[in-house]
Amino acid sequence: MHRSLLVLLALATPVAAQDKKSPGYADTPPIPGQEWRVHDATRPHPKVLAPTPAGAPVPAPTDAIVLFGGAADDLAQWTGRGDKAGWKVEGEYMEVNGTGDVRTREEFGDCQLHVEWCAPVEVKGEGQGRGNSGVFLMGRYEVQVLDSYDNVTYADGQAAALYGQAPPMVNVCRKPGEWQTYDIVFKAPRFAEDGTLASPARITVIHNGVVVHSNRDLLGTTNHRAAPAYTPHAPKGPLKLQDHGNPVRFRNIWVRPLD
Ligand code: MG
Repeated sequence: MHRSLLVLLALATPVAAQDKKSPGYADTPPIPGQEWRVHDATRPHPKVLAPTPAGAPVPAPTDAIVLFGGAADDLAQWTGRGDKAGWKVEGEYMEVNGTGDVRTREEFGDCQLHVEWCAPVEVKGEGQGRGNSGVFLMGRYEVQVLDSYDNVTYADGQAAALYGQAPPMVNVCRKPGEWQTYDIVFKAPRFAEDGTLASPARITVIHNGVVVHSNRDLLGTTNHRAAPAYTPHAPKGPLKLQDHGNPVRFRNIWVRPLD
């Protein structure tokens, strides 16, 4: 082979390897108002920030509704497939076990929400297949739960992303097996009587004590490989936790309605 061709090949190889490390899509629709496609493989990843050490459960304020406080509560406030929340409950946590999504019986609109979650200690799979779950406000707007510690996926699908819409400002994911916190301030969307959008949902997300979305407009219902879009819905909806087939754990979930 000609020497200059060999040099070209050698130069080309690292680029190809880098492409492989950047999963995502090139054939999805654009995200409305952004220069990126949904799950865009070329969208830059947020800076990784060393997380603070995990701590004890954050006590619920006295006016909060405790949605899950540990074993004693036995998922009484939750439901799921076949009108039953079937996740495993052990000690202080509940764990995804393949029985489907779970959701609260009570419904919420504007709220402050605190959720603690933990990716499986046994690291299995990669990208979207590692420690995937999700916190869905009103049953439809997802804040992604994923093991994003040393695990690359498309930027709008990593931990604390507004899935398919916006990556977090930084990646402060803790190691698998360590408890992590989401503190969310959510303002529900408003719809006019004719069903048109009067004001979009707004969300602030604090991951492990760090702001990762600041009063951001949500662009509509969470979608996979499709652009987010609003469909009119009731002023309140359940909080939903996703069963994506990975044994993610949740503990100490509380909410303060703000309407
Ligand atoms: Mg998810």
